[in-house]
Formats: sequence, C-alpha cells, structure tokens
Amino acid sequence: MMHPSVERFEKWTRSPTFREELKKLLSKSYLHVRTPRSKAVLRVQAVALEAIREYLNSMGFVELLPPIIGPVTDPGIRGARQASIDFYGHSYKVMSSAILYKQMMATALGRIYIVSPNVRLEPEKTIYTGRHLVEFVQVDVEEAHATYHRAMDVAEGLFKHVVRRVLERAGEELKLLGRSLEVPRGRFERISYDEALGILEKLGCRVDYGTEIPWRCEVVLSAYFEEPFFIYDYPRGSRGFYDREDPERPGILRDFDMLYPEGFGEAISGAEREYEYEKVVERIKEGGEDPRIYGWYLEMLSDGIAPTAGFGIGVERLTRYLCGLEAVWEARPYPKLPGIVSP
Ligand code: AMP
Ligand code: MG
Repeated sequence: MMHPSVERFEKWTRSPTFREELKKLLSKSYLHVRTPRSKAVLRVQAVALEAIREYLNSMGFVELLPPIIGPVTDPGIRGARQASIDFYGHSYKVMSSAILYKQMMATALGRIYIVSPNVRLEPEKTIYTGRHLVEFVQVDVEEAHATYHRAMDVAEGLFKHVVRRVLERAGEELKLLGRSLEVPRGRFERISYDEALGILEKLGCRVDYGTEIPWRCEVVLSAYFEEPFFIYDYPRGSRGFYDREDPERPGILRDFDMLYPEGFGEAISGAEREYEYEKVVERIKEGGEDPRIYGWYLEMLSDGIAPTAGFGIGVERLTRYLCGLEAVWEARPYPKLPGIVSP
C-alpha cells in the first residue's frame, strides 16, 4: 500500500504550479529549517547516522574520510551529469560517488565505510520523483572477499539496527511527525530482477528486459511490499561497469538494490565488483567510454586488487522513509534540487 505522504506528494506534482511553489519554498529554506517539523526530521537523521556508525563499527568496519574531487568519478549515474572544478588547469570531477576508491580501501583495510557527500546534476524532471537531490550523502560500505549475499545481509542488519535505535531514541520526534515504524521481524524478501519484472507485469507496468526499472514502476513495486526487500541479478548493460558479471552466468550481474516498502522506492544499490583489468576495460568500452580516462583506476587494477562487495545507502532517502516524508528534500536543511537555483 502506498504511504499517504507519497500519495500526497504525487498529487502535488500534478498541480500546474508545482515548480513555482517549490522554488518559493526553497528560496526560504532558512525559515523552514526552524519549524518543529524540520527540527524533528534532523534529529531523527542524527540518530540514524549515529546508529549506522554504531552498527558498522561493531562489525569491524573502519570509517574513512570521503574523497571529494578526482580526475574521474562514477559514470554509472544514469542521466545525471557530473560537476567539474578547475584543478590547477586540469578539469577535475566532484565525486558523484566514491565507488572508484572503495575497492582499494577495502583491499587495504578489509572492511570500510565512508560517509560520503555526492554531487550529481540530475535531469530537471527528477524533481517529480521526490527522491532526487543534486547534493546528497551516501554511506558507502565495502568489504574484501565478500559475496553480494553477504553485502545484502550487512545492509539488512544495518537497516534493522537503525530502525531499532530511532524508535528508542527519537520516539518523540516520530510522534510529532505522525510516523509509526516497526523493526521488521522477518528476513527481507530477495527477488531476482526477472521475478521483479514478472510482478510488475501483473501490476500493469511493462519493463523491457535488460533496462533499469524506471522510477515510476519502482514506486508501484515498492508499494506492493510491506517490508523492505531486495532485487538482485540485474542484467549486464543496466548498471555501471564495476558491477561484477557472474562468470558462470554471462549477462547476469552479481548485484542488487534494496527498496523501501510503501512506495518510497530505492534505498540502496550494491554489488560484487569487477576487479580484473581486462574485464573492466571491456565493460568500460561497452558503455561507450574511452578506458584511457580511467588511467589511474585501471593501473591500480592491473597491479592487483582483492575482490570486494559492498553497497551505498542514501542518507536523505533513509531519513525520508524513517520519518514518512513527502520528499527527500525535507531531509536536508538547505536542499539543492535539479534545475532549481536556491541557497
Ligand atoms: P546509485 O549508485 O545511483 O544507486 O546511488 C546509491 C544510493 O544513493 C541510492 O540507492 C540512493 O539511496 C542514493 N542516491 C542516489 N542518487 C541520489 C540522488 N540524486 N538524491 C538522493 N539520493 C540519491
Ligand atoms: Mg541505484
């Protein structure tokens, strides 16, 4: 079932003045942040971040500082543009994700995580999803010699721990926000990409095999579930070059997403990583890019790196779910939205 906030938001996006209203709202972010509602949301978020660190630290993951700029960044950001800065005469990218750095960090330290700010110039139409910010934070988790099923276990344990702590430490805030939450009891369902397409077909959403599930269909699928769930085994071509292809099942990637229930949609993307030089070069070419731009990254792979698996969880989307918010921008004090110029 769709959460009332998600429904309310969808209705709002259909108003002809939606964009104008949004612009006005964001020009006054400094007023919004002082409302009891906003303060409650930010407190819940702080508890969630504390719980994330608590859980990962207890599992032996080492927190590292985030890379902010580099000669290249994650190209697997469907439709979004990367932001550049002038680095002493060289065009450097602002991190769209820390993916290219995670593998070596996990090779070095075994288990790592990074609370990592990302910038993605998302297409303007994504203001209608309620899930896209230009500036957001991902908690990037990576582990050496782990499978993608192990990564799903970590993600599931992490999420449950966060909900438990938010209930213990931010009950008043949830009450103010009118959000009722429960710690999910069972193991999260894990359905394959093929199974997801089958369910979607029954729900009236046709998705062409081999493509990423469009966000509108993702909302429908998410509303069909009552607890978070995983979709795994996406087909090659639908994701970044770093998601590892199953050597025994060519064309299938050893990767996954976790989705929230109630129409809140994607929470997490994760995978085992491609770590062999030749394979990565082939995959980069397949994506239509010149491998030479990934010079330092490929050099690192050719020198040898451990197989790793991990995931990234968006903090604002997590906050949106925990608080039952209409849109993700309520989870940041001064949100930056695609195509909207604001402080
Ligand atoms: P991705 O690598 O694109 O799957 O991103 C990893 C995670 O970061 C997603 O599962 C989301 O939780 C979050 N995320 C990605 N893009 C955005 C965005 N534009 N705004 C907010 N959160 C995002
Ligand atoms: Mg994703």
